Amino acid sequence: MEIPDELNKSVQFLKYVGPQRAKAFETVGLKTIYDLLFFFPSRYLDRSSVLSSSKVIKYLIDGYEGEVTIIGKVVETELIQRAKKQVFKVTMKDSAGFFECVWFQGIKFFKDRFKENQLYALSAKPAITRYGHLQFVHPDFDFIDDSENLEFRNTGKIISFYRIPKDVRSANLGDLSLRKIMEQAVAENADKIPETLPDSIIKSYSLLGINHSVLNLHFPENKTLLESAQRRFKFEEFFFQQVLIAGRKLNRSKKINGSSKIIKTSIVKNFLDSLPFQLTESQLSVLSDIRKDMENDSPMNRLIQGDVGSGKTIVALIAMLICVDNGFQAVLMAPTEILADQHFKNICKLLYEFNIKVSLLLGSQNMREKKSALGKIKSGSAQIIIGTHALIQESVSFSKLGLVVIDEQHRFGVFQRKTLTEKGISPDVIVMSATPIPRTLTMTIYGDLDVSVIDQMPLNRLPVKTIVRKEDKLPDIYKFISEKTSEGYQSFIVYPLVEESEKSDLKDAETYFGKLKNEVFPDLRVGLIHGKLSWQEKEQVMIDFASKKYDILVSTVVIEVGIDIPDANIIVINDAYRFGLSQLHQLRGRVGRSGKQAYCILISKQNITNNNFDYNFEYLSKSEIEKHKSLIRLNAMVSYNDGFKLAEIDLKLRGPGDIFGLQQSGLPDLKYGNIITDTEELNLAREAAFNIVAEDNTLTKDENKIIKSIIKEKYSNKIQFAKIG
Ligand code: ADP
Ligand code: MG
Repeated sequence: MEIPDELNKSVQFLKYVGPQRAKAFETVGLKTIYDLLFFFPSRYLDRSSVLSSSKVIKYLIDGYEGEVTIIGKVVETELIQRAKKQVFKVTMKDSAGFFECVWFQGIKFFKDRFKENQLYALSAKPAITRYGHLQFVHPDFDFIDDSENLEFRNTGKIISFYRIPKDVRSANLGDLSLRKIMEQAVAENADKIPETLPDSIIKSYSLLGINHSVLNLHFPENKTLLESAQRRFKFEEFFFQQVLIAGRKLNRSKKINGSSKIIKTSIVKNFLDSLPFQLTESQLSVLSDIRKDMENDSPMNRLIQGDVGSGKTIVALIAMLICVDNGFQAVLMAPTEILADQHFKNICKLLYEFNIKVSLLLGSQNMREKKSALGKIKSGSAQIIIGTHALIQESVSFSKLGLVVIDEQHRFGVFQRKTLTEKGISPDVIVMSATPIPRTLTMTIYGDLDVSVIDQMPLNRLPVKTIVRKEDKLPDIYKFISEKTSEGYQSFIVYPLVEESEKSDLKDAETYFGKLKNEVFPDLRVGLIHGKLSWQEKEQVMIDFASKKYDILVSTVVIEVGIDIPDANIIVINDAYRFGLSQLHQLRGRVGRSGKQAYCILISKQNITNNNFDYNFEYLSKSEIEKHKSLIRLNAMVSYNDGFKLAEIDLKLRGPGDIFGLQQSGLPDLKYGNIITDTEELNLAREAAFNIVAEDNTLTKDENKIIKSIIKEKYSNKIQFAKIG
């Protein structure tokens, strides 16, 4: 893409910008006029969203708890000395009356920002003081000049606000001067910006052209155009991201080392007949996806998503059988040794009557065991190999590897899959994840994989009953556990940490173990498992628990991943507010794996009444969500058993920045789009990107050259990702 010379000039040549201001802009990366044109407002104010002070008071009386926006003129500012603390108070008024804003921190900064008789737009959660005044504590605020206000009131103009970086502001560049500079810059230059999307895309997706978009993002003509401009930039951003992903997918499927596999003997049928249950519809439909992939020449790359307990292992095992049936080796990689070992034992049991050789490979095996396993894998006499992720990738050479199954993918970096393919093998790959994530996120993190979802639990399952109780109810809960134990139930009692730490008041598994064993349940058999044990020790405890040598297992989070104990049907989670939502859900997934009613009891310090903080927290402000996160999480656990729903709530609570896997995905950061909420833009952009890459692999058609050049310029560090061109 060719940026015209006029736009490549320094910002210094703009009206109202001298060398000094230019320098300030430069410190925040705004060097050229082009750069500045893409420095967009962070907020907009439109008339329909502004309330009068009397309206705000009415809202408050009606019990409204969210934020409001209000415009007021400064009447008076004062610095109040209260005991040792200073308070900065601004009294303001609007047409309906007076109100006040107060600051307790950063007073020096705010003090200089308010002048008498000036107008400000304020956004915050309102309150009423004990003197009956309408008050805003630490509101967000923006300066509005008189003429703007007139226009705003009379014509319904939308006002935009820039978040001015500190370095820029300190160069005497305030709201007013920046807006003037912007007005000038946009008016004279917006129409010179070259288009960055192909015409065909703009037309077929009815997008606003770049010139109009830039213009309207700075100074919206009206709400519709503002939204169209926002939509365009979101679309564009997702589009380039998806072009990169499409490139990666294409790249992978081009490797021709894959080979088709068909069911040759009756092995799969016999296996299905040998199972004590029938596969669910959902499992069958995923299997049919897998079969189609395997029959195909290019290697399979499929993600299987399914909630804890949905039965992913069986599905993967059948794929492994098809693989073995075709004379290939199949590998199952687990995130921990204890889980690998459990898979090994289960699979050996399931395959007992079939003549298939299964090998286990673990880091903690002794030299002799390891050598023997490695030898069998190399010679091909091991047909199914089970081990931990790390080990299998590093040190193993295979005789004829046909399929790799990666369990619990979410514990595992996305790119590590590469090491196997770099060994010159292109096996089929199945990735399994029990962390349900919203579809938009799947399209991004796993955007180059095909996705199948197991969205149905085995029929014999009852939903786990989940309740929240305060600590003082523990005696009752212990009584309940004792009663249930006599019905054959086993229980987990989970604590967040291993060792007593003086700083925190968290309970510690070891201390509480002693107490539970000797004082609370002297007649029951109580075991202990925690993170400081070696995996063999942990395994021994788990085996003992599974074979019912214990009634109760006191534990830290080591039970989190994948372990299957049919009679464990009660889980008590202490200090539940300490755990993240997905972690709680994973923990709950440890129980309710048979047909019996299972219970998950979350112990909380806070009092929780069920309709206090609804899972539906949309109306809460950010600070309130922050404050009540743990309550929202606990309530969500009570309200939902569905992992997808919980994942969605978790994402809303955490925001996309924290999402595991998003950073590791190596994709560019998003500036305009929100991966959780901008579903429509993402869907369309993906469709557009995949179509274009399918039709024009190398992006060499005239109309697509622009895409290639922008990828080279803007995403050059991500090119290895796409290998386009
Ligand atoms: P996850 O998806 O969490 O890995 P698993 O594959 O470990 O779940 O399966 C959980 C349990 O459910 C296992 O004991 C498994 O044998 C059993 N299971 C799997 N599919 C079915 C089914 N269709 N009907 C009944 N039980 C099933
Ligand atoms: Mg599993």
